[in-house]
Amino acid sequence: MPETQDSHKELKVRAFEAIDRRAEDLERFVRDIGKHAEVGFFETRTAAKVAEFLRSLQLPVEEGFALTGVEALLDTHRAGPKVAVLGELDSVVCFDAVDANPDTGAAHQCGHHVQLGVMLATAVGLVSVAPELAGKVVFMGVPAEEYIQIERRLKLKQEGKIHFIGGKAELIRLGRFDDVDMTMMIHASSNLPGAGVDRGQTSNGFVGLTVRYTGRQAHAAASPDQGINALNAAVLGISAVNALRETFRDEDHVRVHFIITKGGDLVNCVPDDVRLEAYVRASSVPVIEETLARVVRAFKAGGDAIGAGTECRVLPGMFPLAGCPALYELFYKNSEPFVAREGFFDGGHMSGSTDMGDISQIMPAMHPMTGGMDGVLHSAEARVTDYDAAVIVPGKTMAATVIDLLSDDAVAARNVLSTFSPNLTKDEYLKKLNGYFEYV
Ligand SMILES: [Zn+2]
Ligand SMILES: [Zn+2]
Repeated sequence: MPETQDSHKELKVRAFEAIDRRAEDLERFVRDIGKHAEVGFFETRTAAKVAEFLRSLQLPVEEGFALTGVEALLDTHRAGPKVAVLGELDSVVCFDAVDANPDTGAAHQCGHHVQLGVMLATAVGLVSVAPELAGKVVFMGVPAEEYIQIERRLKLKQEGKIHFIGGKAELIRLGRFDDVDMTMMIHASSNLPGAGVDRGQTSNGFVGLTVRYTGRQAHAAASPDQGINALNAAVLGISAVNALRETFRDEDHVRVHFIITKGGDLVNCVPDDVRLEAYVRASSVPVIEETLARVVRAFKAGGDAIGAGTECRVLPGMFPLAGCPALYELFYKNSEPFVAREGFFDGGHMSGSTDMGDISQIMPAMHPMTGGMDGVLHSAEARVTDYDAAVIVPGKTMAATVIDLLSDDAVAARNVLSTFSPNLTKDEYLKKLNGYFEYV
């Protein structure tokens, strides 16, 4: 074996031993976060706990950007690329989940508590070998990956506290990635209870949409003829969108889904204010935009039929994930000592979305899906089944991947950068995203 390979192996063993020494702390941390879930841009307790753990590694910590963002820098004091390792701070809402917050319904049914554990395990491992590496590693707890509670976030926007609805877009805007060269994180997979890796490297992107139908209130039984029924407009608009579905091509992975966030006020009044939130998803930006135009037209048809007003507001969502294959290959290679052959599988294109898609448009990025959780994500059944498989194994794998990138004067990281060309510059990205606010 070449000498460099041997020295990586020795570094990796040291990092793995450091992670093993804190394995109990890491599991305790993940279990605690799992019982105290918080939704995006309100993850104050979670961020404080992440900061506390990072400080225990003697790393300098910054907090409070994009409301709840937190990061710590590992500086090797040797010139080289800067690698970001991320963990997402936020949860979804699922009142039926075992550990749901009884008041808010916040629950880690997307496994972001696991990601935070993986990020911290990676930090533990890399701190122990930092003198042998070049460049910098930033560990970043990022807010608000889940694109939810849109009206609540629009209020934060109105108050000037955020500009974008999603966390990573907001961090890009704030310049937190300006000096970052490549970005990596893992995400737990659905239904993968043991150690495993999904080889999929792409995902859908989407745009967000709010729809508001306005009618006229009147007595629901005595004088419906004097009213304009906004709920009937919404029902027709939804039917018109559903009638489009047969035209969606399989290869475009189109997903259009919505919820009614307000269906009326009083049952004995003709409803005059009905509101929806929707996503229009697909695997490419042109298809997202083409589908969006048709969906907006269909929603408007509902209002036109009834004579209600229809206000559609388009909001920037997430870009499709365009993972950097070279980073994934390093991650797979470093998974091999821990994951049995049958643990590797190709889940193909992910119909869901991640705002790592946004990062992947401007720099090399990696978002592999790993094991240790069973049940379908975003459902009450999603749960950690194996903390070693969910946290320790991906943490060691991530640490080993960064060691491969930044050892030997960071030659591997420099190679990744020299062969990568981003789809968008930061300015092009922000211009594109801001353009959706202007959509009419
Ligand atoms: Zn999710
Ligand atoms: Zn998630």
